[in-house]
Amino acid sequence: MKRVDIIISGGGMIGSIAAVAASRQGLSVLLIEAQAIDTIQQKSPRDLRVSAISADNINYLKELGIFNHLLQERIQSYSKMQVWDNRGDGEIAFEVDYAQQDYLGYLLENNNLVQAAWNCLDGQCETLQQAQIKTIENEGSQIRVELSNGDKYKSRLLIAAEGRNSFVRAFTQIKTKETSYHQKGLVSYIKIENAPTQTALQAFNAGGPIGILPINEAEKIFSIVWSLPQSQAVHWLECEQKTFEKGVKQAIGKDFGRIILLSKRAAFPLTQLYAQEYFKKRIVLCGDSAHGVHPLAGQGVNLGIGDIQQLFKVLEPSVLKDNDLLHQALRKYQRRRISKVKETSEMMSLLHHLFKDDEHIKKPLRNIGLKLINSLPIKNWLAGQAGS
Ligand SMILES: Cc1cc2nc3c(=O)[nH]c(=O)nc-3n(C[C@H](O)[C@H](O)[C@H](O)COP(=O)(O)OP(=O)(O)OC[C@H]3O[C@@H](n4cnc5c(N)ncnc54)[C@H](O)[C@@H]3O)c2cc1C
Repeated sequence: MKRVDIIISGGGMIGSIAAVAASRQGLSVLLIEAQAIDTIQQKSPRDLRVSAISADNINYLKELGIFNHLLQERIQSYSKMQVWDNRGDGEIAFEVDYAQQDYLGYLLENNNLVQAAWNCLDGQCETLQQAQIKTIENEGSQIRVELSNGDKYKSRLLIAAEGRNSFVRAFTQIKTKETSYHQKGLVSYIKIENAPTQTALQAFNAGGPIGILPINEAEKIFSIVWSLPQSQAVHWLECEQKTFEKGVKQAIGKDFGRIILLSKRAAFPLTQLYAQEYFKKRIVLCGDSAHGVHPLAGQGVNLGIGDIQQLFKVLEPSVLKDNDLLHQALRKYQRRRISKVKETSEMMSLLHHLFKDDEHIKKPLRNIGLKLINSLPIKNWLAGQAGS
């Protein structure tokens, strides 16, 4: 049986960043990923999944050395945000405080971040792709796992970063509460002729918001995340290109010139998910295995990176050896993260419900709501500042 300090199951964005963070603390790691990790180059087709990473979290990625491993031609900073309601006159626009920082955040393809983090892993971290945990023993002062290939490992801690449908979470019998938004998030790339520069855009409509995120300013390429009622998603996924372009233009509601669809389209169900506990003995949840939030302010990955920062603040090598100290450390992690996640997720839900329908009673509220956003911390959420 092989031995490491920490096993991480799931090598997506959060699992791979956690592996780098653990290695930087001198801990030995086994990172297990069910899929094969994409190799992307400058000219590879774009990943349809794009994330807005806040300035604070970009700084953390820089500290870990991950930022420099990103394909720099495939990332885009943004320094301004513009948010409006197409059914009222509410509109807010804001930009970064240049005295503090040059940007509000960066837009990047999910597989660019995953590849960068994997490229940062050193000899401290053993990696396995296309492998999974089959069984877990979570008793006493260590974890024992058996993998699908028959290999056996023991460790002091098992981190589940397997996304929403976490095997480890289910195996550990940690309960979840999941609520459907009855929406799908449609993603694709478009070209916009005359959009404002360095600006992430978001328009609220009956049915759901559309986020328009610059991913390559020079070529005027934007990633869109269009939240749609489930009943409409199939139509917008399958309709003719011209119909889609017209629909997107209408959902944006402002005239930024010609819009051209550049890619395939894909849609993901939108749900809110809370794990009721974030740890059990020596197993701990991070990222979407612990929580799922509405993507309207792009906070999923940011919350996950916040989890990692908090987890490695409380975990020191000596803590891992002692059951009581570890329990205290993980309780602290759970307390801090559950309250942070709840605050963010409920704010996203409030915005979703406030803007979703065209009910008469909500109209004045929406208009006031958007104006209020400008003076409230919600603005920071929208700017992706509240990740950690
Ligand atoms: C439409 C949409 C748009 C979004 N936009 C944004 C945004 O702009 N900004 C933002 O911050 N967030 C955004 N999010 C949320 C974001 O995508 C997620 O929060 C993020 O992917 C979570 O990362 P993760 O690593 O926890 O999970 P995942 O990305 O789901 O990765 C999990 C990894 O674990 C692997 N895995 C699964 N099961 C196993 C197993 N049993 N064993 C081993 N490996 C396993 C998977 O193959 C995968 O590689 C968006 C979400 C949606 C749906």
